Amino acid sequence: MIAPSQQKGLGDVVAALPIAYTSNMLTCSLQSGSNGNCIYVEAAGVRLLFDAGISGRQARGRLAQHDRDIHDVDAVILSHRHGDHTRCAGVYQRSYNLPLYMTPATHLAIKPFVGKLTDVRTFQPRDTLTFGPVSVHTIATPHDAAESVAFVISAEGRHLGIFTDLGHPFRDLAGALADLHAVYLESNYDAVMLATGGYPEELKARIRGDGGHISNDEAVELLRRCLPRPKWVALSHLSEHNNDPNLALETHRATLGQAYPLWAASRYRASDLTEV
Ligand SMILES: [Zn+2]
Ligand SMILES: [Zn+2]
Repeated sequence: MIAPSQQKGLGDVVAALPIAYTSNMLTCSLQSGSNGNCIYVEAAGVRLLFDAGISGRQARGRLAQHDRDIHDVDAVILSHRHGDHTRCAGVYQRSYNLPLYMTPATHLAIKPFVGKLTDVRTFQPRDTLTFGPVSVHTIATPHDAAESVAFVISAEGRHLGIFTDLGHPFRDLAGALADLHAVYLESNYDAVMLATGGYPEELKARIRGDGGHISNDEAVELLRRCLPRPKWVALSHLSEHNNDPNLALETHRATLGQAYPLWAASRYRASDLTEV
């Protein structure tokens, strides 16, 4: 029996409830940034890695921190040819016997650099890959690598986006964001840090150009317009020299509110295993 003083109005009770939900889709970033990218997703018994930009030993060790065995991964899916996403793809295949999925252009570009590949399965940008009950929809992005793609992973009614190396906030990106329950969203650079930093002008132009990366401000603007917003956002692919995790988070919170669930994917460590 609740004493009258402890009774609450309906609004209070609802507000006091923890945000409880159960999702069978789990994900963690094993690393995110121009020093190497690899994201793990599991759902409905299917285990996937997105990109292979960290060493096999790092990928294996960081998965083991979450009691996951890299040998149990069903597929490694590559977003585009750049080394921070593909460097160790050959090692993952040869050491852990993992099939590799990539576009023909990515295959052609990485072939000389990743050693012998025995199991490559190709797809075209905009294709949807299916792994039992899990689907991976690929979205063509205007990043400066042929056939560069972002991903939407769907299972059991949950949708997770892996949106990095985006080029610029292209048409359809905001719409794709609005359908997601959670997203790894590129927030690569702070415009002032890039402008005043030591990079050569040519490289600065490439980063902020149409085929480069999206800034903190551009990512915020995408999320500001996105309603309903994803349940959480992992700011991803942060630049070491042109950004800072706290600055990126503050830039987002200034617009999206302090309470909005944001975290920054680390350039050095695995994140927690998080529900989508
Ligand atoms: Zn990258
Ligand atoms: Zn790239």
